[in-house]
Amino acid sequence: MAEARRTPELPVAAGRVTESAIRIAVVHPELLGTYGDGGNAVILARRLEWRQIASELVEVHPGAPVPDSCDVYCLGGGEDKPQARAAAELSHGQPLARAVEAGAAVLAVCAGFQILGRSFLGADGTPRDGLGLIDAVTDRGRGRRAVGEVVSTPTAALGARGLPTLTGYENHRWVTTLGPGVTPLGQVVSGVGNGAGDRSEGAVSGRVVGTYMHGPVMARNPILADLILESVVGPLDPIEDAEANALRAERLAAVGAGGGARWGPLRRWGRRR
Ligand code: GLN
Repeated sequence: MAEARRTPELPVAAGRVTESAIRIAVVHPELLGTYGDGGNAVILARRLEWRQIASELVEVHPGAPVPDSCDVYCLGGGEDKPQARAAAELSHGQPLARAVEAGAAVLAVCAGFQILGRSFLGADGTPRDGLGLIDAVTDRGRGRRAVGEVVSTPTAALGARGLPTLTGYENHRWVTTLGPGVTPLGQVVSGVGNGAGDRSEGAVSGRVVGTYMHGPVMARNPILADLILESVVGPLDPIEDAEANALRAERLAAVGAGGGARWGPLRRWGRRR
């Protein structure tokens, strides 16, 4: 299995080379679609539409061939058995790796994130090969199940590009240890995130983004949605996100960050009891 070595940062595409619709794949929604993660693809498509850029949602169902010609691939969370089945299907011919090689972006949440790594656990608890798109290993860990709100500050590079404090909802048992070939998506301020003891949350490896954040994460963090889209279509004009801002403020307030921390850096607060 090839280990990914890419720039550890979401690049901005030079610009669109064709006028054809941007194809957004919803990968195995029946297996990988917990907590509304299927909404991520819809949000990406809608944000393109708001910029008069045509898009097409391509649902990829288990048992059907996985196209390697899409521009963005979305994978969501899932239970352990469906997760292992999705990984087994996606490993045939490595369509995602070929698509990424050709410039596609991937957004993978929770179980989806775990199977993009070098290894994860099967439903029987034994290690399985992952797809090798992210330099990370997922195993059982020792802590309790991570359930609840998670807040992180974006990595320096993404923060410099305007990515604000990230917010989501996590629900996972396994922990993910990042290798040197990737950058965390963020540093955890509240919640667990990857759970490996380094307070990292998620991972970025070129155009591949993994995270434990449900929500859906694209609804909670529309600027991250735009950065992912920009990595395939080039620079985008900003959008007025009043509704998303209100949701973010409410969710950040729910973990004690205060509604005023909408787009700015969060102040640190004490460990919650
Ligand atoms: N099976 C994984 C875990 O518990 C993924 C859970 C999820 O996707 N919500 O860690």
